[in-house]
Amino acid sequence: MLPLTDSHGRTKRKLRISLTDRCNFRCTYCMPEHPDWLPRASLLTRDEVLRLAGLFVAHGIEQIRLTGGEPLLRRDLTECVRGLDGLRERGLRRVSMTTNASRIAPRAVELVEAGVDDFNVSLDAVDADLFRRMTLREIAPVLDGIEALAAAGARVKLNAVVVRGDNDGEIVRLLEWAMERHLPLRFIEYMPLDAPGHWRRDAVVSEADMIAAIEKRGHVVERQPRGADPATPWRIDGHYELGIISTVSNPFCSTCDRLRLTATGELFTCLFSPVGMPLGKRMRDGADDEALSALVRKAVWLKDAGYAARPGPVARATTMHTMGG
Ligand code: SAM
Ligand code: SF4
Repeated sequence: MLPLTDSHGRTKRKLRISLTDRCNFRCTYCMPEHPDWLPRASLLTRDEVLRLAGLFVAHGIEQIRLTGGEPLLRRDLTECVRGLDGLRERGLRRVSMTTNASRIAPRAVELVEAGVDDFNVSLDAVDADLFRRMTLREIAPVLDGIEALAAAGARVKLNAVVVRGDNDGEIVRLLEWAMERHLPLRFIEYMPLDAPGHWRRDAVVSEADMIAAIEKRGHVVERQPRGADPATPWRIDGHYELGIISTVSNPFCSTCDRLRLTATGELFTCLFSPVGMPLGKRMRDGADDEALSALVRKAVWLKDAGYAARPGPVARATTMHTMGG
């Protein structure tokens, strides 16, 4: 099958699949404190997830990232991973997971053995009180989860969303904590994808402000050339690589190679698309692979330029916890 290329010449190689919109955390920058969960029956079953994943792999998708909500809340998570692992013979090269890690400790070995190649763990603060203020949950199980993943030999990367007035004062502490443990870290600019009306532009800490805060504390910072990854790499003190995802201040839309599938099977070609293509619904209505494939190609072709072209909040009900980051 033909690879998925949009009308701006960007070929898609990565797919994020949200396995559930449910989450045991309530990160204030991600979702409302009392979200309306999607009806359970509308969530894709494992067979449906694997059928759509196979279709995307046939179209040249090489990397799949499982996300949520919190993927660990999905009871059949390990079986989903095993199913994806089986797509390697059809061209899939990497299976990743983004998680808050609070429930991963007892399952770290099982998930690595099932086929997860690497994990991104969200950690916005190392101070327990600040972590609680941002996520409305406790940090201890997350730190246990990170330790368990390391003990299982997993590749782990940390993600921290930086929100002014919350954890902007924690940037250097978090960086030094990650450096001491040789854990890669990426700071993420706060994007307008949380509860409607919650995001404020002045709460965004830009990449430039983050770098200034790090330099002010005496670290030597050198910008590295940007590759295919959305994060700009920065070398710290000559030996540690920090990434910064600057979607708001310096969008990377021109090289975007990602697609996103929500837990109900809506295909979003951009985090900021106002509408998705309802693949899950069409599949349940009886569409065969050829028809689904035509819908995917159409949605990808129509992918617009991205956040760079239309900055600011999007008028839609789908927030970050439904989209999967
Ligand atoms: N629950 C998992 C987790 O927290 O890692 C996976 C889902 S979460 C929606 C995926 C990623 O989106 C996390 O790294 C989270 O920090 C990030 N995220 C959520 N809301 C965001 C926002 N408003 N701006 C930037 N990143 C955000
Ligand atoms: Fe849950 Fe992840 Fe959103 Fe936090 S960022 S509320 S852990 S989905």
